[in-house]
Amino acid sequence: MTRIFNFSAGPAVLPEPVLRQAAEEMLDWHGAGMSVMEMSHRGKEFIAIAEAAEADLRELLGIPADYRVLFLQGGATLQFAMVPINLLGGRKRADYVNTGEWSKKAIKEAKNFAEVNVAATAEDANFTYVPEQSAWKLDPQAAYVHICSNETIGGVEFHWVPDTGAVPLVADMSSDILSRPVDVTKFGLIYAGAQKNIGPAGLTIVIVRDDLLGRAPKGTAGMLDYKVHADAQSMSNTPPTYAIYIAGLVFKWLKAAGGLAAIAEKNRAKAKLLYDLLDASAFFRSPVRNCDRSLMNVPFTLRDERLDEAFLKGAKERGMVQLKGHRSVGGMRASIYNAMPIEGVRCLVDYMKEFEAKHG
Ligand SMILES: *Cc1c(COP(=O)(O)O)cnc(C)c1O
Repeated sequence: MTRIFNFSAGPAVLPEPVLRQAAEEMLDWHGAGMSVMEMSHRGKEFIAIAEAAEADLRELLGIPADYRVLFLQGGATLQFAMVPINLLGGRKRADYVNTGEWSKKAIKEAKNFAEVNVAATAEDANFTYVPEQSAWKLDPQAAYVHICSNETIGGVEFHWVPDTGAVPLVADMSSDILSRPVDVTKFGLIYAGAQKNIGPAGLTIVIVRDDLLGRAPKGTAGMLDYKVHADAQSMSNTPPTYAIYIAGLVFKWLKAAGGLAAIAEKNRAKAKLLYDLLDASAFFRSPVRNCDRSLMNVPFTLRDERLDEAFLKGAKERGMVQLKGHRSVGGMRASIYNAMPIEGVRCLVDYMKEFEAKHG
């Protein structure tokens, strides 16, 4: 068996020990005589799995008692709608900061429900930076302020938390949740699709402050109402059981690795290897402003795009895949989530140096 280095933006690499444990437990979970996939979501075995996953996530992120953790489906994309449906609470307007492709999608969906005020946008520089808060034009009547903490496609990340006063801050953390410690109390709501840095596709995690529940308008479908899910401990219908189980194993893996401060240090070291090379190179280039560079998704371009295909082919021959940049940006993108070992990044950096020496 050969494991390759998978730089996919999502679904993405998972920790090998997690996959091994899942394989071992595939046919018989802890003597239950069945796979987790075959268990009733209301049985005591699965309830224990879901409760442990929530407890471990709470411990990792330091989630306070007045926040609820919801295990939902529908991806981060459904949250683009559920956030306005649930948080407008009778108000009409919401603030959005536009830092790239995922912000744009969130804004587009929110416009179905709210008057969107784009409080700041980085469109003037092709979404290569995070606008300083001093330049934001927040609406005091806004029901909430929405940001995307890490633009998976553009490789732009917030390395600071905006101060929105009494207005709840909402963050799409799909691609940087669990990559570093976060002060959850600064947010009203955090959401993340699992398939970047948590686990398999199919699970979406929402962390929401209690007082923001119960604001959905009368007539809202139950499946779109946070309060319905919160009241039912995310079991108002069948949750994505296997994805929750794998996410739970990832949480245990993170705890064993020393928690989020420890993983953040590893993530900084991995990203530094790549950015140092990009900064020193006359051949490869990062389009993103230094202070806003993502530690999770690193887009870069080659000096001559006609070499892109050769670069990707050589990478594949060396056991590195999914380095092609998003179609909207071009070039390359290396996603180096928690589960990407530093050896994978070293392998990429060595290959880039070799490629530059040959073609530069
Ligand atoms: C991947 C991604 C999404 C969309 O997630 P889905 O699970 O496909 O709905 C939204 N926001 C960000 C930041 C993402 O990286």
